[in-house]
Amino acid sequence: MSELLKTQKCPHCSYEVDDSQAEWDEGHHNVTCAKCGKDYIVVTHYKFEGFEVGNKCDWCGELANELSHPHMFDMAIGKGMCKDCWDHDREVYKGSYGEDIGEFKPIRMEEKPLSDNDTSNVSIIE
Ligand SMILES: [Zn+2]
Ligand SMILES: [Zn+2]
Repeated sequence: MSELLKTQKCPHCSYEVDDSQAEWDEGHHNVTCAKCGKDYIVVTHYKFEGFEVGNKCDWCGELANELSHPHMFDMAIGKGMCKDCWDHDREVYKGSYGEDIGEFKPIRMEEKPLSDNDTSNVSIIE
Protein backbone atom coordinates (compact mmCIF):
# COMPACT_ATOMS: atom_id res chain seq x y z
CA MET A 1 0.00 0.00 0.00
CA SER A 2 1.45 3.36 -0.96
CA GLU A 3 1.28 6.35 1.32
CA LEU A 4 -2.25 7.54 1.91
CA LEU A 5 -3.32 11.09 1.20
CA LYS A 6 -5.64 13.13 3.32
CA THR A 7 -7.10 14.77 0.27
CA GLN A 8 -8.05 13.31 -3.10
CA LYS A 9 -5.41 14.56 -5.53
CA CYS A 10 -5.12 13.94 -9.23
CA PRO A 11 -1.90 11.97 -9.88
CA HIS A 12 -1.46 13.72 -13.25
CA CYS A 13 -1.88 17.40 -12.43
CA SER A 14 -2.08 17.34 -8.63
CA TYR A 15 -5.48 18.97 -8.74
CA GLU A 16 -6.99 18.65 -5.30
CA VAL A 17 -10.62 17.57 -5.21
CA ASP A 18 -12.76 19.40 -2.70
CA ASP A 19 -13.83 17.31 0.29
CA SER A 20 -17.47 17.66 -0.73
CA GLN A 21 -16.68 15.99 -4.09
CA ALA A 22 -14.20 13.39 -2.86
CA GLU A 23 -14.83 9.64 -2.95
CA TRP A 24 -15.55 8.80 0.67
CA ASP A 25 -16.94 5.30 0.20
CA GLU A 26 -14.49 2.53 0.93
CA GLY A 27 -13.08 0.79 -2.13
CA HIS A 28 -12.08 1.57 -5.72
CA HIS A 29 -13.44 4.53 -7.64
CA ASN A 30 -12.86 5.51 -11.23
CA VAL A 31 -12.47 9.25 -11.38
CA THR A 32 -12.03 11.70 -14.19
CA CYS A 33 -10.07 14.75 -13.14
CA ALA A 34 -12.14 17.90 -13.34
CA LYS A 35 -9.07 19.91 -14.26
CA CYS A 36 -6.96 17.89 -16.70
CA GLY A 37 -9.66 15.47 -17.83
CA LYS A 38 -7.52 12.34 -17.32
CA ASP A 39 -8.84 9.23 -15.63
CA TYR A 40 -7.40 7.90 -12.45
CA ILE A 41 -8.33 5.52 -9.69
CA VAL A 42 -9.02 6.41 -6.09
CA VAL A 43 -8.89 3.67 -3.47
CA THR A 44 -10.43 4.80 -0.24
CA HIS A 45 -9.16 3.13 2.91
CA TYR A 46 -10.61 3.11 6.35
CA LYS A 47 -8.74 2.03 9.40
CA PHE A 48 -10.60 -0.34 11.61
CA GLU A 49 -10.76 1.24 15.06
CA GLY A 50 -12.37 -1.64 16.92
CA PHE A 51 -15.69 -2.68 18.29
CA GLU A 52 -17.60 -0.91 21.00
CA VAL A 53 -20.03 -3.19 22.74
CA GLY A 54 -22.53 -2.58 25.47
CA ASN A 55 -26.07 -3.12 26.48
CA LYS A 56 -28.87 -1.78 24.37
CA CYS A 57 -31.42 0.42 26.06
CA ASP A 58 -34.92 -0.84 25.26
CA TRP A 59 -36.26 2.72 25.25
CA CYS A 60 -33.88 4.79 23.15
CA GLY A 61 -32.03 1.91 21.45
CA GLU A 62 -28.66 3.46 22.27
CA LEU A 63 -25.61 1.70 23.61
CA ALA A 64 -25.44 1.93 27.38
CA ASN A 65 -22.79 0.78 29.80
CA GLU A 66 -25.35 0.19 32.49
CA LEU A 67 -29.03 -0.58 32.36
CA SER A 68 -31.62 -0.41 35.06
CA HIS A 69 -34.81 -2.38 35.50
CA PRO A 70 -37.76 -0.29 34.31
CA HIS A 71 -39.25 2.05 36.89
CA MET A 72 -42.68 1.65 38.53
CA PHE A 73 -44.51 3.72 35.92
CA ASP A 74 -43.15 1.82 32.97
CA MET A 75 -42.95 -1.78 34.10
CA ALA A 76 -41.84 -3.85 31.18
CA ILE A 77 -40.59 -7.21 32.32
CA GLY A 78 -37.14 -8.12 31.15
CA LYS A 79 -36.43 -4.73 29.64
CA GLY A 80 -33.53 -2.49 30.46
CA MET A 81 -33.41 1.29 30.64
CA CYS A 82 -30.32 3.47 30.33
CA LYS A 83 -29.44 6.32 32.67
CA ASP A 84 -30.35 8.99 30.12
CA CYS A 85 -33.86 7.60 29.69
CA TRP A 86 -34.20 7.11 33.42
CA ASP A 87 -33.18 10.68 34.22
CA HIS A 88 -35.49 11.95 31.52
CA ASP A 89 -38.43 9.93 32.86
CA ARG A 90 -37.57 10.98 36.39
CA GLU A 91 -37.96 14.63 35.45
CA VAL A 92 -41.17 13.95 33.56
CA TYR A 93 -42.85 12.01 36.39
CA LYS A 94 -41.62 14.51 38.97
CA GLY A 95 -43.05 17.34 36.92
CA SER A 96 -46.40 15.88 35.91
CA TYR A 97 -47.22 13.43 38.75
CA GLY A 98 -45.14 14.81 41.60
CA GLU A 99 -43.70 11.31 42.03
CA ASP A 100 -40.01 10.61 42.26
CA ILE A 101 -38.98 7.29 40.73
CA GLY A 102 -35.65 7.63 42.55
CA GLU A 103 -32.06 7.40 41.50
CA PHE A 104 -30.97 5.36 38.51
CA LYS A 105 -29.96 1.95 39.88
CA PRO A 106 -27.97 -0.13 37.42
CA ILE A 107 -28.62 -3.84 37.31
CA ARG A 108 -25.62 -5.37 39.01
CA MET A 109 -23.68 -7.97 37.08
CA GLU A 110 -23.70 -10.28 40.12
CA GLU A 111 -27.47 -10.66 39.86
CA LYS A 112 -27.14 -12.39 36.54
CA PRO A 113 -26.75 -16.16 36.81
CA LEU A 114 -23.15 -17.06 36.25
CA SER A 115 -22.58 -20.43 34.67
CA ASP A 116 -18.99 -20.29 35.97
CA ASN A 117 -20.29 -21.00 39.46
CA ASP A 118 -21.82 -24.25 38.31
CA THR A 119 -18.76 -26.44 38.65
CA SER A 120 -20.69 -29.70 39.00
CA ASN A 121 -21.68 -29.76 35.37
CA VAL A 122 -18.62 -28.67 33.45
CA SER A 123 -18.13 -30.12 30.02
CA ILE A 124 -15.40 -29.22 27.60
CA ILE A 125 -16.57 -28.54 24.10
CA GLU A 126 -13.95 -29.26 21.49
ZN1 LIG B 1 -5.69 16.18 -13.22
ZN1 LIG C 1 -32.17 4.89 26.79
